[in-house]
Amino acid sequence: MTVKKLKYIFHTIWVHSIGSVIYYLPLFVATVVLLSPGCFNPDEPLSYFTGLSNLFAFDAEFGDHFIRNDLYYVIGIASVSCVLVSLLTRTHVSTFLRSVWYALLIVTFITRRFLLWTFDTDINAETISMMLETNSDEVTGFVQSFLLTWQVVKYIIKALLIAVLIVASECLWKKYRQRIIDSQNAIFGSTLVVLVLMPFAIMSASTYKYLDWVPVQNTVSSVVIAFDGIKAKTEEAMFFYTTVERTDKEIPAVAGDDTLDVVFVIGESFIRSHASIYGYVMPTTPCMKSEEKKGNLIAYSDVMSPFNATTLAMKNMLSLNHLTADEKWNRYAFWPQIFRKAGFATLVFDNQRGDDRHYSGSFYEMYSPKVTSVCFDCVAKDQWHFDHEMPPYVEEELSKRNKRTFFLMHLWGQHFHFAQRYPKEAAVFSATDIKRKEAWITNEKRQLIADYDNAVHLTDKTLGMLFDLFRNRCAVLVFVSDHGEEVYDYRDRTNRPGMDKTMKTSYARSQHSTPFVVWMSDRYKATYPDVVKAVEQAKDRPYSHDLVGQMMLTLGRVKSSHYRSEDDVLSAGYKPGKRFIYVGNQKLDYDSLMRSRE
Ligand SMILES: [Zn+2]
Repeated sequence: MTVKKLKYIFHTIWVHSIGSVIYYLPLFVATVVLLSPGCFNPDEPLSYFTGLSNLFAFDAEFGDHFIRNDLYYVIGIASVSCVLVSLLTRTHVSTFLRSVWYALLIVTFITRRFLLWTFDTDINAETISMMLETNSDEVTGFVQSFLLTWQVVKYIIKALLIAVLIVASECLWKKYRQRIIDSQNAIFGSTLVVLVLMPFAIMSASTYKYLDWVPVQNTVSSVVIAFDGIKAKTEEAMFFYTTVERTDKEIPAVAGDDTLDVVFVIGESFIRSHASIYGYVMPTTPCMKSEEKKGNLIAYSDVMSPFNATTLAMKNMLSLNHLTADEKWNRYAFWPQIFRKAGFATLVFDNQRGDDRHYSGSFYEMYSPKVTSVCFDCVAKDQWHFDHEMPPYVEEELSKRNKRTFFLMHLWGQHFHFAQRYPKEAAVFSATDIKRKEAWITNEKRQLIADYDNAVHLTDKTLGMLFDLFRNRCAVLVFVSDHGEEVYDYRDRTNRPGMDKTMKTSYARSQHSTPFVVWMSDRYKATYPDVVKAVEQAKDRPYSHDLVGQMMLTLGRVKSSHYRSEDDVLSAGYKPGKRFIYVGNQKLDYDSLMRSRE
């Protein structure tokens, strides 16, 4: 074979691969940009550079590598489109197909922008199911309240502008593309670029499987996953809805006639060992400590979370199932509903609700109209950037109620990124306060630990505000974190990375040993001395927070057929069972891990 022939073969392959991307460059660029609005923020032109720099992110931070994977994914889709178009020999077929593709790109892009800005959501199982469940009345209402607005006109103008831009670039590119494609430099240069990107692309492809539990950035994956998710989610949700419906039909639960406020606060990513009330060196929880001193607060020493993920922790915590007996959360009563049936006004303040919408795997079923209509009197529409902004709104809602109330609150807590969880002026600790000396600790990491501790301090401050709010009422408050978190505590890692086989105990302690406190107002203590005694006696009993609902029924004086004394840590009949942590597909005995020495 002659060199000339080899060259010819290489050139033919190039024309129908990399060359086709150059030849149809407008198609390529439009596909990449319009399919991944999450990678590029169209409102901030600078984000295009950030988006592109992610392409070379070998060791990307959590979050950024999903963006990188997504970019490679859409580059793959865009490249395949160009190759396919280059194989079409008839010009009008090619033009028609490209036009259809452009139209699809623009429509989905604008739809996602609209969903994001109007409803703070995206194409996911939730929005698609909602669309499928919508009836014609709702459609009319939707058209009137959303589609006939100036905002939508702006979106239409934006869509037209994008279309004009595409047509203009197609016309312009037509003039130069043949000259470029014939140039040796273009062949050499583009092949080099592809070779440089190849290792990053391969790495991205190898980690792309994680897509099922991360927020999806690109349109193709979000549509595929949404439809995939609907099936599993519908099945799981259906059981939950049936359970809620069944509970609704039951004979009402009974509670006392007195006024009583029961408050259940779910924290986030709070490791027990960073709370001074549990012995941490930094004074991160002054409010809780002072309440403990006054005899109003009892910190439980041995409560754990079976999961290190919010969704599973929440689902099992808010249902009356017993996890270790393999009871599924969605088959057992959702206990806030029992409080409502017992005559409590049930009010929800969830700071993470808006974000949950983006996750097809969140406990968003809790906010389905089917559930909220029978379980809650009020679900706060707002979410607050910082947790301590929430209590004033709780107070406002409380002032409207004159009967027993049950509050379910869900905080931002110590959700990463830690520095975003407290306002700068609320910072109490800085890197210099963190006296950690391990080999892996740098000043930057000391600052991150300080950020985390500041976020703990803000959770404590929020709780302090709530204590004050309920202080002069007959009230009981339980605070629990959904799971723990790592902040360079025993290894050079942060957030919730996987388990090291040689450090299982530290792993379990960091990610699963959660703070758990019960706070009681003076009036509550005076009214229910027997409960107070039980709360004090149970302080050191081992407990798994998937059983907390049973304890809440006792604290709220609710008598229900769903109550099981053997699962209630306050009961004389409490039977502490085995406790497990769920790590991937493994189920590990938490207590034997705590006993073992690494
Ligand atoms: Zn969480």
